[in-house]
Amino acid sequence: MLPLQLLPEHDRTIREHGERAFPHECCGFLLGRDRDDGREVVEVAAALNSRGELELHNRFTIEPEAFMRADRAARAAGLDILGFYHSHPDAPSRPSQYDLEHAWPVYSYVIVSVAGGAADELTSWVLRDDRSRFDPQPVAVADRSE
Ligand SMILES: [Zn+2]
Repeated sequence: MLPLQLLPEHDRTIREHGERAFPHECCGFLLGRDRDDGREVVEVAAALNSRGELELHNRFTIEPEAFMRADRAARAAGLDILGFYHSHPDAPSRPSQYDLEHAWPVYSYVIVSVAGGAADELTSWVLRDDRSRFDPQPVAVADRSE
């Protein structure tokens, strides 16, 4: 599988968002372009978690309206929505059953584990077309300035 290419600042932004939201989940969008050598993230954008506070701990949901807004903004910038990120407070950075049931194929799902308020492992996953399971996607964090 082609890697998800993050800039160091994207990695930092996702981790900081996860730490800020702790003990709740954060979520947001990954915007960028699919290229021959990987999925190039150009921008990460925070989304408001739209579920009630009591459910925020282990559920993430992005409102359809927020998705449409992000999609329009991405297209206006010549980008696509490549996927989403969210945090797992005090839980491993592996997709949950809820994630499996609510994900769509094609998109990248970045999960950052936040243990006791400190961001830990960051992983990315892609749902199989038959929706049976996620496959891990390599994450490459590197500067592209050269
Ligand atoms: Zn999750």
